[in-house]
Formats: sequence, C-alpha cells, structure tokens
Amino acid sequence: MNAQLLSIGNELTLGQTVDTNAAWLAQRLAAVGVLCTRHVTVADERAEITREILEAAKTADLLLVTGGLGPTPDDLTRETLADAMGVELVFHPECMTQIEAYFASRKRAMHPQNRQQAMCPRGATPLDNPHGTAPGVRGRLGNCDVYLMPGVPREMKPMFETHVLPNLSHGSGAAIVQRTIKTFGMPEAEVGEKIADLMARGRNPTVGTSAADLIISIRINAHGETVEKAVQLAEADARVVRERLGVAVFGEEGDSVQDAVARLLIEQGKTISTAESCTGGLISKRLTDVSGSSAYLVQAFVTYANSAKERLLEIPPALIAQHGAVSAPVAEAMAANCRRISGTDYALSATGVAGPTGGTREKPVGLVFVGLATAEKSVVKELRFGENLSRDEIRDRTAKAALNLLRLELIGRSS
Ligand code: ATP
Ligand code: MG
Repeated sequence: MNAQLLSIGNELTLGQTVDTNAAWLAQRLAAVGVLCTRHVTVADERAEITREILEAAKTADLLLVTGGLGPTPDDLTRETLADAMGVELVFHPECMTQIEAYFASRKRAMHPQNRQQAMCPRGATPLDNPHGTAPGVRGRLGNCDVYLMPGVPREMKPMFETHVLPNLSHGSGAAIVQRTIKTFGMPEAEVGEKIADLMARGRNPTVGTSAADLIISIRINAHGETVEKAVQLAEADARVVRERLGVAVFGEEGDSVQDAVARLLIEQGKTISTAESCTGGLISKRLTDVSGSSAYLVQAFVTYANSAKERLLEIPPALIAQHGAVSAPVAEAMAANCRRISGTDYALSATGVAGPTGGTREKPVGLVFVGLATAEKSVVKELRFGENLSRDEIRDRTAKAALNLLRLELIGRSS
C-alpha cells in the first residue's frame, strides 16, 4: 500500500509552524505496515492544492491531507477536493447540527462563516470531529482513498484513529516495528563502533543512531510479514544493543535519565537530597518530574550565593576563599554536607559557570563540577561543556550528568 501525505498552510511553507502532523502520521502508518513514499507541503493556494491532490492520486492508494478545513476564506481544502473530483460542494445539515452543538456546549455564539464547514464534495462523506468545529472528509479519486483532516494536531490525531486507521486493514500486511534504546555517557562514535555490524546497509532491522543533548538514541526499525515477526526481529536486535552498550543504556523511547534514577531509587528504597548552584533547582525539578517522587526526594537546596552555601550547607568560608565556589572541593563539600544535613542515603550537587557571562581564563563558561555523596564516599566529576553552548544547554547537560552519576552508583558501577 502506497500512502502519501499532503500538508496545507502558509504557516508551514513560511516555516512558522513545523509540520509535526506529517511526522506523526508517517509513524502511525509505518506502525501498521503502510509505507509513506511522499510528503508534500503546499501554501493556501487553491490551484496548487488541487494539482497536488490530483498528482498524488495518480500513484497513491491513500492520501492524507491535513489543514485548511477552518471557517476562514483561506481554508480551501474542501473546495480543492471538489475541484479535483470534478464535483460541487453540497451542504450537510447533520454536520451543521454538530457544529452548532459544539458551539452551544461551550456557550459560544457561532459565526455564520462556520456554515462553510458543513460543506462536503458531492459523493464524499463527512467525518465527525468531536474536538473542534471542522468535520473531516473522506472521498475517492480513481484508486486513491483521500482523507481531509483538520490541521490542529489535537483534532487531527483522534480523527485519524477513529476514521482512517480502521479502514487500513487492507494494507500490505507487512508490519514495521520500531524500538528505541537510549544511552547516556558513551560518545556516539563509540556507540557506532560497538554496533557497526547491526548498522550495516541492507539489513533488516535497520539500525541507526541519533544524538540530542548528550543522549544517544539507537533506533531499530524491523520489517516483518506479521507484527509478531517484526517484533521478534526488533527484540533480537534490542537485546544485542543492550548487551553491547551495557551500563550506558538507561531506557527506551519515552524514558528520561530521571525516570531511570527514580525506578532504581524506588526499587532500592533509597532517598536523595540535592544542593544546587548553577542549575538553580533543575536537578530537583527533574527528580520531581516523576510521579511518586516523594518516595525518594527528601529536600533540595538552591544555594546560589556563597553566603547561602555557608549558611545552609555549612561550607567553610575558607574553602570557598581558597578554591572558589566553582571548584571540585566545594562541589564535594556541598554533596557531603547536604547528605548529612538531610539525612538521606545520597546527595547530588552542582556548581559551575553557566554563562554566557562570568567566565574567566581559569574558569571558563561551561566548566561545571557535579558531586555525589554516599555513605562511603563523595565523588566529583569535572565537566567542560565548552563556551559555545547556551546557558540552557549547559544547565540541561549538568542536570543530566549529575543524575547519571547517581544512576551509575545505583547500578553499582560508579565512574
Ligand atoms: P481550523 O479548523 O482550526 O482552522 P484547519 O484545518 O483550518 O483548522 P489550519 O488553519 O491549517 O487548520 O491550522 C490550524 C493550526 O493547526 C495552525 O495554526 C497550526 O498551529 C496547526 N497546524 C496546522 N497544520 C499543521 C501541521 N501540519 N503540523 C503541525 N501543526 C499544524
Ligand atoms: Mg484554519
């Protein structure tokens, strides 16, 4: 089955909105074995849209169109499908009733322009939209099933699940299963080297890596005649990847480093406290992003000023005077004292120069120390992110590095 996607809207062609609909739809289709061979994006131009619909219908079995179903004069998608089908638009009173009910339930007055949304090309079927005013449309052009859906992702997604997906059972039968393994702390080149044989061209599954903010993801796409076969293939590769990358693996699609840390803390019944300077509370924020975090987070100090480090964490003024607040000894003392004061099993600390100002020759922007204190020891890791990263990036990576330090400790393999 050959599927094509058509995204409509000036804001897309002007680059003001990123076309997340196409990415989402292509992935949902792939998951049921329908391959997308072409994505096209067109501005709100009647003739252009009609031409692209006709072009796609020549080769595609399925064409999914999003955008341009609204009530304003620049919403032209219904007209263009009617043009392509060579028919006129007809009024559907049952759609009008639904649109009116949508406004009534929100106690809002309906603008007469919304009447336009109850129009549908002759011979096509309207699709109800419980999440907005624009009904979708299902029509046919030659051998191609054409669906028009709203551009608003929150409305488009349920419409796809309800009205498109159930009609795709006549797909090729081939299934594609995707697995993502996420790692932290191993350079991408090393990851690539360790799984080079899996990444060879022409293999099934295909295996690729992508890096984003220190997290390296390994994506496995397996094709199979059935979903079960594809799952088996993907599973086999996932096992090999996990084995070879060892402790660098912290989770799968949807997991964050803090999710992994939270799981381990809860499993082991351990508690944590934090002492943060340059991250301003980001580490504790991430620890509390996980539901159920009260089981492990006891308290969090944000000690930005030296005076706060001295008063709340009992850091000796002489230590700061001697080494500076951004230093390994201060990071270590912050973690150790935080742990003692909080009475927790572990404590994490972070102190650094997040920039873009405040860097010196000796202590440049991007120099960060993260500390971890346990009952037996305190360790500090020096990180040098370089001066090209933004303040946000430095803080994000610092928080991840600190959480990863704890993760490795919890799995018994501190680095
Ligand atoms: P409405 O009935 O709300 O007017 P519509 O079908 O006319 O919906 P558009 O007017 O094209 O859709 O888009 C409405 C909004 O939906 C856009 O401003 C944008 O935020 C979002 N949107 C549209 N197309 C896409 C897309 N391809 N990817 C992500 N977001 C999109
Ligand atoms: Mg619109």
